[in-house]
Amino acid sequence: MDGMSTKPRLATLWLGGCSGCHMSFLDLDERLIELAGRVEFCACPLTDYKDFPEADITLVEGAVANDEHLEHIQKVRQRTKLLVSLGDCAVTGNVTALRNMFAIEDVLDRAYRENATVVTGIPSGNAVVPLLLARVRPVHEVVKVDYFIPGCPPSADTIHSFLVALLEGRSPAQDGRFG
Ligand code: SF4
Repeated sequence: MDGMSTKPRLATLWLGGCSGCHMSFLDLDERLIELAGRVEFCACPLTDYKDFPEADITLVEGAVANDEHLEHIQKVRQRTKLLVSLGDCAVTGNVTALRNMFAIEDVLDRAYRENATVVTGIPSGNAVVPLLLARVRPVHEVVKVDYFIPGCPPSADTIHSFLVALLEGRSPAQDGRFG
């Protein structure tokens, strides 16, 4: 890949998603070992980083649903050469965006009043709860995305094909699935 070191730095990121896309990534199984020889894994949802590191490729699961997601993806975009929307929630909003049909007040009421049994009431004041955006948005609506891997979730084979093409210097866009 242009401008990349011999071992590109690969990160994965989890925004508003169910973690199913990461599970699919883990389904690469033994191919993860092969991948580990070809990339440096520099960040994932289990990494305890204070600041997102510089990355050559970042796979993003999930849509942009709250103010923390928005701030995070903007920083990640600045620090990533190739940003990839991984899965339908990142690509279109998908399941995460179902709440766009309702007013935020109704969503909060449902979560914190109607369905709460122990502690009820919408968090406010010093409660550390990210603010919901007025609308859940696919990643490319808020930052530039270089490639898209659709699917709910995309299969491990699809993720593998994508990464291998990228690492071998072929443009995944030549495969109509990722353009
Ligand atoms: Fe989960 Fe599907 Fe969304 Fe991936 S695309 S985060 S599997 S709902």
